[in-house]
Amino acid sequence: MHNIMNQKLSNRINDMATSATLAMAAKARELRQAGVNIIGLSLGEPDFTVPDFVKQSAIKAVEDNYHSYTPVDGYADLKQAIITKFKRDNSLTYTASQIVVSTGAKQSLYNLAQVLLNPGDEVLLPAPYWVSYSDISKIAGGVPVEIKTAIDTDFKVTAQELEKAITPKTKMMIYSSPCNPSGSVYSTQELRALADVLVKYPHIIVISDEIYEHINFTQQHASMAQFEDMYDRTVTVNGVSKAFSMTGWRIGYIGAPEYIARACNKMQGQVTSGANCIGQKAAVTALENSPSKIKYMIDAFKERRSLILGLLEHMDGFKINKPQGAFYVFPDISYYFGKTLRGTTINNATDFSLFLLENAKVATVTGEAFGDPNCIRISYAASNDDITRAMKQIKEALLG
Ligand code: PMP
Ligand code: GLU
Repeated sequence: MHNIMNQKLSNRINDMATSATLAMAAKARELRQAGVNIIGLSLGEPDFTVPDFVKQSAIKAVEDNYHSYTPVDGYADLKQAIITKFKRDNSLTYTASQIVVSTGAKQSLYNLAQVLLNPGDEVLLPAPYWVSYSDISKIAGGVPVEIKTAIDTDFKVTAQELEKAITPKTKMMIYSSPCNPSGSVYSTQELRALADVLVKYPHIIVISDEIYEHINFTQQHASMAQFEDMYDRTVTVNGVSKAFSMTGWRIGYIGAPEYIARACNKMQGQVTSGANCIGQKAAVTALENSPSKIKYMIDAFKERRSLILGLLEHMDGFKINKPQGAFYVFPDISYYFGKTLRGTTINNATDFSLFLLENAKVATVTGEAFGDPNCIRISYAASNDDITRAMKQIKEALLG
């Protein structure tokens, strides 16, 4: 039955993978509704509420009767707030015609793939990479080319590895720093080393996903577009989902070369129109405020990182490194491959993640979705209590 129905659907959708992060979150939700007490460490979503000062501006926007279609590329005051933010936090200079506000960074990435890729164009993805980069590229006809990295080098790609992966067909490279899922943060020197390679290949556009910018325990955030010789070939993607805990408000944005911004504007004009009016007014307030206003969230994430790393250290078969940003740990659990736990043979990271869901009642995400089949992703955007209980339950389940 399923197959017959699928035949009616396009190859495009049949060939697309379901987002593993959202699928795991949905599965955990279903189990919870069925009465199973699942601890959700799968979704990368801050567990804080939206800061009051941001909420107030959304309420005011409703009361001020903001209701109509917005300009496709965003309200002028939000674009100005983004320009000021880029200058203040990243020393990046953009003008209004280089900014496009979207319905979340995910849409910005989708737009970029649609406006830049032709069928067969190769997209470099240092792996592990954020789950949707690969399918967003494929939907646009692009061919993802993974560049494997290692846990021992903090999952960071080197200049040599990058250069080896470049071909005449390479059109784009997408990476995030701080990285989802590894938590790695590229320093200015590390990015400069990559830039030294990229300047030799002017046909490549770099998409720098900086959505975790503020959740960075090194205190130092570097942007590829800061390098003068990369500025014209780099698109900086960001949004309010992570820093301001506004995931459901759906506001993202880019700073880009003008011709790319214009193309994204054209794309949105046919697909979604401008982002929602209330979310945009709230985002103006969020971005106009100093990042110090959200320091309490960053401090909490840092504390939780210590907590989870301390607990994972005592877990057999978990190889871990120390993430420097975002709110994930990405342990290598390949020690368990080929082993049988509570009657279940673990052949890969997906089996392991499902084993944890069923036996430890903890939701994680398989590393396969992020291009690393030896790892699982654990989000620590959860309360200390949930983290502690989850690690205890995992430890017990692994004892058999
Ligand atoms: N990039 C990365 C690396 C992410 O983790 C996320 C999380 N959703 C996104 C982009 C998309 O963010 P948004 O909520 O703004 O669509
Ligand atoms: N970015 C988050 C994650 O990786 C949210 C889920 C999603 O948008 O895929 O879990």
